[in-house]
Amino acid sequence: MMGDAATATSSAPHVGRADADRTPDVIVVGAGVIGLSTAWRATLAGLDVTVIDPAPASGASGVAAGMLAPVTEVAYGEESLLRLNIAGARRWPDFTAELEAATGHDIGHQRDGTLLVAFDADDHAALRDLHGFQQHLGLEVDRRRSRECRAQEPMLSPRIRGGVFAPGDHHVDPRRTTAALAEACRARGVTTVAQPVERIDHDGERVLGVTTGDGATHTAPRVVLAAGVASGALHGLPASVAPPVRPVKGQILRLRSRDGTRLLSGAVRGIVQGRSIYLVPRRDDELVVGATQEELGHDRSVTAGGVRELLDAAVAIVPGVDELTLAETAAGLRPGTPDNHPLVGATDLDGLILATGHHRHGVLLAPITAEAVVACLLGETPPAEIEVADPRRSAVTDTGPRTSDPGRRVDDVRSAS
Ligand SMILES: Cc1cc2nc3c(=O)[nH]c(=O)nc-3n(C[C@H](O)[C@H](O)[C@H](O)COP(=O)(O)OP(=O)(O)OC[C@H]3O[C@@H](n4cnc5c(N)ncnc54)[C@H](O)[C@@H]3O)c2cc1C
Repeated sequence: MMGDAATATSSAPHVGRADADRTPDVIVVGAGVIGLSTAWRATLAGLDVTVIDPAPASGASGVAAGMLAPVTEVAYGEESLLRLNIAGARRWPDFTAELEAATGHDIGHQRDGTLLVAFDADDHAALRDLHGFQQHLGLEVDRRRSRECRAQEPMLSPRIRGGVFAPGDHHVDPRRTTAALAEACRARGVTTVAQPVERIDHDGERVLGVTTGDGATHTAPRVVLAAGVASGALHGLPASVAPPVRPVKGQILRLRSRDGTRLLSGAVRGIVQGRSIYLVPRRDDELVVGATQEELGHDRSVTAGGVRELLDAAVAIVPGVDELTLAETAAGLRPGTPDNHPLVGATDLDGLILATGHHRHGVLLAPITAEAVVACLLGETPPAEIEVADPRRSAVTDTGPRTSDPGRRVDDVRSAS
């Protein structure tokens, strides 16, 4: 389906090789952590890139905690995702070094491991099971007795039953990261268009570009669809290639100390009466507490119940949280898929590449996703671990778009990102 015949133009702010008649090598739809990482890496590979987004970094990437935690987040039944997540985590040190060198920005990448603690006896039993599973998978985790947990993090409650420490699970600040990525893209001459993409234009066999909300058509031989939870809703997408993403709501809190003291030296995850929680200290005095998992469609409201649940669980394992100020409450929508694996790679529509469906792991997987998409754009072999994210896998093509199940609330013990 072709869009309007007008030539590509952008009335929105742009930097770089903006040219009304110019056809870039690739259009990236969406400027969250996935789209921006992809655009930056593509331009480093010598491609001419346009990024289109009416509100960059306003989606899930703008609220995420930024855990890079394949080990403490491993979930039963998601073993096939683990290899990808571990490969994703391994990309982060170089990605950070290059991004910080390119921009001079500190993206808050903290590499001091993650401590996972259990609150009561049942939680401790669940933790023991999880530890057995982690060991069975050959992951690097050390058991910690209660007093060892408190020696490591003195502000933990004495009620903590014990824990495990994952030295390789780290975290980054997604807001700093997206700001640095936007800066790196600008410096490399990426053109940005602040409009919503309304339609993917194609002739039935190959992609021709996109049409934006102002009616302008933007032509390009390749389009990367990285619009998070909106990726499946664009007009013009043939049903066979429309990504089956569904919104999975997460509420999250940002707390601050009143006197600059830090309650925690590193990230702490907790299992608290069956609920999963994490507390992530930033280098400044911010403490991020997250996150709920709710299947409520596109609702992004922050609820009293969501805030209460998070605070109750946080205070149970770190009582000093009660003294902090509640600086921000937010909710975001994770792009989930039928099998909760991402969708990264070429589709049956020539030139259309998906980079979406990252659900709980979009920050973690941004560098490896960008690497895979750039390989795809250059006709090179992508990293082997991305194979589980093939958009043409049967788990996706056999299911079709999944609708949300309104009202169902999920607070799985092992899934809080
Ligand atoms: C509470 C919470 C905590 C999380 N914690 C973690 C964590 O600790 N670690 C981790 O790895 N992941 C975490 N995640 C998941 C992570 O945030 C997502 O997987 C990731 O941000 C997805 O990135 P994205 O770029 O695909 O999507 P988004 O960040 O949602 O970006 C999509 C972009 O597309 C744009 N867009 C939408 N429609 C259009 C359109 N029509 N045209 C053009 N642009 C459009 C939007 O404006 C937006 O900027 C968390 C998520 C939530 C909600």
